[in-house]
This record gives sequence, C-alpha cells and structure tokens, in this order.
Amino acid sequence: MSKFENLGLQESLLAAVSDLGFETPSEVQEKAIPILLEDETDLVALAQTGTGKTAAFGFPLIQKIEVASRTTQGLILSPTRELCLQITNEMQLYSKYEKGMNIVAIYGGASITEQAKQIKRGAQIVVATPGRMKDMIRRGIVDITKIDYCILDEADEMLNMGFYEDIKDILSNTPKEKSTWLFSATMPKEVATIAKKFMHSPQEITVGAKNSGASTVQHEYYVVSGRDRYPALKRLADANPGIFSVVFCRTKRDTQKVAEKLIEDGYNAGALHGDLSQNQRDLVMNAFRKKQIQMLVATDVAARGIDVDDITHVINYQLPDEIETYTHRSGRTGRAGKSGISMVIVTRSELRKINAIERKIKQDFLEKKIPSGIEICEIQLYHLANNIKDTKVNEEIDGYLPAINDVLNGIDRDELIKKIVSVEFTRFYNYYSKTRDLNSGDGNRERGGKGERGEMPKDGSVRYFINVGERDGYDWMSLKDFLRDNLGLEKDDLYKVDTKDSFSFFNTDAQFTPLILETFSDFKVDGRFINVEVSKNPGGNRGGGRNGGGRRRDRDRKRSGGRRDRNSSFKGGKSGSKKSKGKRNSGFY
Ligand code: ADP
Ligand code: MG
Repeated sequence: MSKFENLGLQESLLAAVSDLGFETPSEVQEKAIPILLEDETDLVALAQTGTGKTAAFGFPLIQKIEVASRTTQGLILSPTRELCLQITNEMQLYSKYEKGMNIVAIYGGASITEQAKQIKRGAQIVVATPGRMKDMIRRGIVDITKIDYCILDEADEMLNMGFYEDIKDILSNTPKEKSTWLFSATMPKEVATIAKKFMHSPQEITVGAKNSGASTVQHEYYVVSGRDRYPALKRLADANPGIFSVVFCRTKRDTQKVAEKLIEDGYNAGALHGDLSQNQRDLVMNAFRKKQIQMLVATDVAARGIDVDDITHVINYQLPDEIETYTHRSGRTGRAGKSGISMVIVTRSELRKINAIERKIKQDFLEKKIPSGIEICEIQLYHLANNIKDTKVNEEIDGYLPAINDVLNGIDRDELIKKIVSVEFTRFYNYYSKTRDLNSGDGNRERGGKGERGEMPKDGSVRYFINVGERDGYDWMSLKDFLRDNLGLEKDDLYKVDTKDSFSFFNTDAQFTPLILETFSDFKVDGRFINVEVSKNPGGNRGGGRNGGGRRRDRDRKRSGGRRDRNSSFKGGKSGSKKSKGKRNSGFY
C-alpha cells in the first residue's frame, strides 16, 4: 500500500498530513499528487464525491506556491459558497506549517469589502465561487493575470449550475501558460467540452468506474403507493434511530411541506431550498452540521453545496428527473471511506427508472420492504436499551437518590427495567402497533417496467374531475406537475389536463385509477380537501362548476409521529374515525 511519504510531498506537508490523521492516501491522491508535483501539466481527474479530491490538488498546489511572494498564484473555482469555505478551511489545515501562506475565500452573500481587504493583504491562493469571482475581477479587486495554477473543482456541478459562461469569462483573465487541473465526480459532455476548450493535452486519471456512485453506498428501493410516501419516510426514519440524513424532494414546495410535516411530527428536521434567505440557509446548515437536525429536507439545487461527512442515509423522497442527479444525491453519503445507504421511495410506475439508474451507476439496487410497525417497535426498544446502557450518569442526581429510592421502593430490578423502558416505548408501541403494511404489492420490476408506459392498456383512458382550477392558481402545466408529484406518475402518464375556473379535468390510463382515487380520498392542500372523481363525461365537459363535494370530511387528520418531541407530549396514537372503506386506521399512517 502506498504511503504519503512516497508521493513526493515536502516535510512540512507530511507533518500536516499526520496532524490531520490521514494514514494512507486515497486512490485519487495516490495517482494525482505525484503527477502534479513532477510535471507542469494539465490534468483531468475523475473521482466520486468523498474520495479526497481536495487533498489531491491541495497538497501539490501548496507545495508549488512560492510563499515568499504575495502574488496570487493559484485559483480554485468551486460551485458553492459551502464548498468554497470547506476547501479554504481544508487548505488552511494542509498549509499550517507554511509560514506566510495566505488562502482567501471569495463567495457571494457576504461582505465584498471584507473579502477585498483579505485579498489586499496578499493571497497566494484564492478559492472562489464563479459569480463572486467575476464580480471582483470586474471591480479590479483581484488580479489573476499572473496565476500559474487554476483548479476547477466539482466541475460537473459548476456546469450543472450554469456557470459555464462565468468560468469562460474568468479564464479569459488568466495567462495562457498556466496549468489547469479539473476535478469532477462525473464526466458529462459539458465537462469534456471544457477540458477540450481550455486545457492542453491534459493527463487523465479515473478512479473507480466513470459516472458511478461511490461503491461504499448501498442502494435500496421501497415500493409504496403515491399517497404513502410520507408515512413511508417516517418509518424509514424510525427504523434507523441514529439517522443523519438528507431527504431529497423534487420541488421547493414539497421540500418545505415534507420538512414542516416532519417537524410537526416531532422529528429534528429542517428545510433547505432556494426560497429561503441566505441567512436562513446558513442557520439550517449550521444546525445540520451540529447534528441538531437529523433530517435535512432539500432540493437538488440547494443541496449541491452540502459536503458533510457522516451522513448515514440519503433518502430520495421522490426520484429526480435526471439520472445524473441521482449520482449527486447518493454521493452525499458514503464519504471518507464510510459506508452509507441511499434509499429510494418509489411507486410502481417508477420502477423502470430504477433499472435505468442501475445501468448508469453500474450497481444493483436492493428491493427492501418498509418495516412493519412491530419491527420498528423492536428496533426502537433495543435502541432505547442501548441508550440507557450508554447514558452517562448525571451526578447531580445523587442528592435526590434517597428520595427516589423511597418512591421506587419495593420494585424489583426486572420490573424497574420494564417500567423505565415503557416510559419511552409505550408511545411508539401505541402508535405503531395497529398500523398497516405500506408496501405496495410486489415490487417486481419486470411487471412494473412493462406496460406502464408507451403501450395503452386494454381498458383505455379514464377522465377525472378535480376540484381545483385557475382560481386556485393552477394552469394546465402546474396542475400536471402537482398531480405528477403527488401521484409519482410520469409526465406521459397524465394527459388532457384541462383547467377551468374552479375545477379541472385530466386523463390517465385506467390502470392508475385505483392509485388516483386512493391518493385523493383524503388529501389536503393548505387546509383544503382536494377531491378527485372519475368524470362521467369521458369527453371532458362536465358543465357546471360544482365543487366536487370537497368538504365531505372536515375532521382534521392529526399527523402523528413515532418520535419524541421534547417540548410536547406525544401527539400520535389517536386513532380518529375509521374510513368508510374500513381498511385504514386513519389516525395512523
Ligand atoms: P471530495 O472532494 O472527493 O468529495 P473531500 O476532499 O471533501 O472529498 O474529502 C472527503 C473527506 O475525506 C474529508 O473529510 C477529508 O478530510 C477526508 N480525507 C481526505 N483524504 C483522506 C485520507 N487520505 N485519509 C483519511 N481521510 C481523508
Ligand atoms: Mg470536493
């Protein structure tokens, strides 16, 4: 096995390596560091998230910088403010024994004057997001005309985020005879284009299969009906008591909604999406870093900067539209050599997407079942027992011990244990003991994959009436999105979406009718019941603007959680009234 000592790094850097506790170089470090130290060369390095790319370019860059000079010699471009700060921070640790080294972060959403001040003091290395960098070049605050090294970190993400023009602009301010090092997790066309356009016969290194997710990640999917996504999410969380996760949703609205529901249900959750202010996002990210938030619900765009180690689970609440995006999502876990799990909650109609992802990541998914209520109770019980075992005793209790002993006098050990455990456990038990199976039939992908798209089923098309329309702010496109998101259907599964003033129509193939009627049998948006019925007029016009009997049931379904909420007593467990079908216990998911 290779050692850091054999890569050609100078003593001061090896000392930093040792301080950081890095024992052996990762594969990308082992491959890239000697090349970058020996040659003046352009380099394209492909390696998954969490494989240690920062050190792969960071150490050689630091070694090559002339510390005695205060000229800016190295520029690192990175997609987000988060990453920018993280790289800067890491690089400062790498260079802790390089006296006079000044590494400055430049990013949006913070005072430009403060950053300008830092640059003025002389920064040999600048780490920047493209937007702010461009701005500072334009204002003449930073001079990159003499750099020797330009690093494009997470190049795929930068291009994903639409920074192509900015990067082009920035590079046009740099000298021709410099070395460009491009690091990326994936190699989409756009990255190849950049490499071709801005680099000169770059050397290439690839770690692991191109475009594949980190192999330390296990991929799992769970088949549920569209309406069960949320309860399924809760069960996955409850079945993994130590969970530290990112939950991905497709839209900002769903992100906010799911996070709010989780919080309401007593989970330590938070939302991260583009409608939040920078300040709000910082607060959420800080809480997540400190693990005060266990479930971070995020959109793909907002989550791009998340570079937190130790994430145990990535949960795909909905699958992304692009397969490429799945790789980015699952790469948030399994970092730094740790293992992680990427879970996908799917409806049967989405199963073929799983096949497509498998081909792309060259890894198989495991089909798993949403745990039953009893299984969750069991898991929680053992977790609780272990918690009790590992709890550090609070010595303050000593003074009260005689009094406590008086109260508990006469209870033997076994009974005492049962009672202590019951304090916590009964809530879970009450909540979960009567719940139903959430797994949607058998998830056989052959079956799910065929016939769901493309060919029309024999029994044809069904038209539906829905009690929302333009007055509620929908046009046909947004209504289609709304239906698609909540039903987990494909774009082509919904058609003839026709919005009227206070109601609308749409069509699906008959096979989806049960899913649709079930999903909207008890469904609220902003406190209002959404009602869907099969339209009696398959052609469309239903005539009058009747409001679909939307207020049939006005009882408030209490969302309940199987999880502790410090500030309030447990909310769940109230079974509410039985639904007319009698199958479902509506107080429980
Ligand atoms: P990437 O940029 O490839 O996503 P990072 O550079 O952010 O990955 O590294 C991921 C984590 O692994 C960081 O916490 C980093 O400190 C750690 N790390 C990097 N190299 C090593 C190493 N050789 N040994 C142990 N940990 C490492
Ligand atoms: Mg990185």
